[in-house]
Amino acid sequence: ASIPRVALVTGTSSGIGEAVVRHFCAQGHQVLAVDFNPAGKAVAEQAGAAFFKADLTDGEACKAAVAEAIKRFGRVDILVNNAGIQHVSPIEEFPEAKWRQIIDLMLTAPFLLAQAVWPSMRENGWGRIVNIASVHAQVASPGKAAYISAKHGMIGLTKTAALEGGSQGITANAICPAYVKTPLVDGQIADQAKMHGMEEQEVIEQIMLKNAAIKRLIEPAEVAELVGYLASDLAGAVTGASWNIDLGWTAQ
Ligand code: NAD
Repeated sequence: ASIPRVALVTGTSSGIGEAVVRHFCAQGHQVLAVDFNPAGKAVAEQAGAAFFKADLTDGEACKAAVAEAIKRFGRVDILVNNAGIQHVSPIEEFPEAKWRQIIDLMLTAPFLLAQAVWPSMRENGWGRIVNIASVHAQVASPGKAAYISAKHGMIGLTKTAALEGGSQGITANAICPAYVKTPLVDGQIADQAKMHGMEEQEVIEQIMLKNAAIKRLIEPAEVAELVGYLASDLAGAVTGASWNIDLGWTAQ
């Protein structure tokens, strides 16, 4: 069993973030779940976590979330940057406001949160930053300029945090999943089915799993398990790395 830690997890009302909150609570960690969706409160409390409502596209809200964790639990040991959204549109038509929203949420918020938790981790000589990136932090697909740019940027942030944290007991790693069975992907399956006039199962098999060696979607719990490892004591030698859970997508 691991030592109980204090974790701040973002994007926790559903999907991967919810699975990470459950995993940490089951390990006995104290967890602050942060999301802008008020439905996240019931999800968090059911898992045994505290909830803080914040729209992370707002820098002040990012700082307030960390202040809340420190007020409640006295420190932050683990930061999981998970909140994310998608918008599909060719570059030529991509709305500037959507671009800015995605960069704010998926690149600037992880930076501001890391900055805000840093003093606590440094003082304790122990910290774990786990960034939920994507296979789209490694390779691109058409139509996802903002998401792919944010996720590639997240790898740069992860590597920089790893170098700066090395002497302070702070590690930083990124996880790069292919398609995980979550509401975010359910929405994309439905949209693509409509767009291409296909059955949803065909979209999964012919579009989402086209590059996959293993032909199935990933479960949120499979991602949470790796988060748990990277946040553990035994992962203290692991930093600055990108961990693919991509069904073999990037092996080719
Ligand atoms: P999801 O839609 O189930 O969860 C995303 C969460 O982020 C939700 O709880 C949502 O309320 C929250 N959120 C969105 N905007 C927010 C904001 N402005 N402020 C605060 N919270 C906000 O999606 P998911 O699939 O679990 O995605 C989680 C992360 O995993 C994302 O960063 C996503 O890019 C990444 N990811 C997902 C997949 C996948 O296939 N599902 C693959 C690779 C990476």
